[in-house]
Amino acid sequence: MPTRVWDYLPEYEAERDDIMDAVETVFRSGRLILGESVSSFEAEFAAYHGVRHCTGVDNGTNAVKLGLQALGVGPGDEVVTVSNTAAPTVVAIDSVGATPVFVDVDPATYLMDVSRAEAAITPRTRCLLPVHLYGQCVDMAPLERLAAERGLVILEDCAQAHGARHHGRPAGSMGHAAAFSFYPTKVLGAYGDGGAVITDDADVDRRLRRLRYYGMEDVYYVVETPGHNARLDEVQAEILRRKLGRLDHYLAARRAVAARYAEGLAGTDLVLPVTAEGNEHAYYLYVVRHPRRDAILEALRAHDIHLNVSYPWPVHTMSGFAHLGRRPGSLPVTESLAREIFSLPMYPSLPAGLQEKVIAALRSVL
Ligand SMILES: *Cc1c(COP(=O)(O)O)cnc(C)c1O
Repeated sequence: MPTRVWDYLPEYEAERDDIMDAVETVFRSGRLILGESVSSFEAEFAAYHGVRHCTGVDNGTNAVKLGLQALGVGPGDEVVTVSNTAAPTVVAIDSVGATPVFVDVDPATYLMDVSRAEAAITPRTRCLLPVHLYGQCVDMAPLERLAAERGLVILEDCAQAHGARHHGRPAGSMGHAAAFSFYPTKVLGAYGDGGAVITDDADVDRRLRRLRYYGMEDVYYVVETPGHNARLDEVQAEILRRKLGRLDHYLAARRAVAARYAEGLAGTDLVLPVTAEGNEHAYYLYVVRHPRRDAILEALRAHDIHLNVSYPWPVHTMSGFAHLGRRPGSLPVTESLAREIFSLPMYPSLPAGLQEKVIAALRSVL
């Protein structure tokens, strides 16, 4: 078996009875859509973050999209974010008719360089959208200050940051709302698609519930503002409830994997991840950097080790976003990262022997 960056099968083997029991629980419940598993998961996920409300949705892209719409972001508005992110962040901004405005990233953390955010604000700016990429939080205090001064909303993209903390505060509890994905690879992953938006604002939550349900209140049959069908599936919600109870355990396992990499790769010229002061990293990905990235990845393939790059093409250089008019060269840190970073295998059930094989192969290749 070739070594891959992610594999859910060891975890499934260990948790199979619980996962199958979750499926059976829903199938026997008599209610397959927006039943007790979704509402219980929503309450538990909100409580985990210390916020009042959570609306389960069908995936992380729609979590960002509905989050923006519920916060009043739409056509003509500008959203300040980063190009070093998963493309869906930007697809979601585009899908509500808003314009993404990119700021470059910090060369140490690869996260939004918040010192550049203010210069990106124009009279059309409506929203700041920090992405807590790879599992650690963006420096939020400057963004919170800017939002207060300029009357902007903050939507956190937490698709990679379940369980991360920033100066003690959970990722997702700092903005006006926060979008999560439960795509299977994520720190809290479903057995299929899923997503959620959390917020402390009851009006925002009410709009989210309508938006995910055609634009209706759950119990009425009248649409006031047309919405979407973006419901979280009942089976995925029940699986997520079970896995939420193990989230802190998964986080501890990811941090242990990260610590073993740090120890095993110390003294090489690979640039290892840096955790910013005040952050507790969730290690969704373990992203390393080297100027000879492509040669290293090719040499590792000879050891049957196949690694990923997250992400090889900055969003602003993609043909689908050419209309934004951002030229190659306009975000130099983001663009140099895309040429030099790659991800090492990272998941809670990563077998220790496999990790040792990756470390040994890397040391020999370097
Ligand atoms: C995965 C991801 C998304 C999209 O989530 P899906 O569930 O795949 O739609 C959005 N933003 C970021 C940063 C992601 O990593």
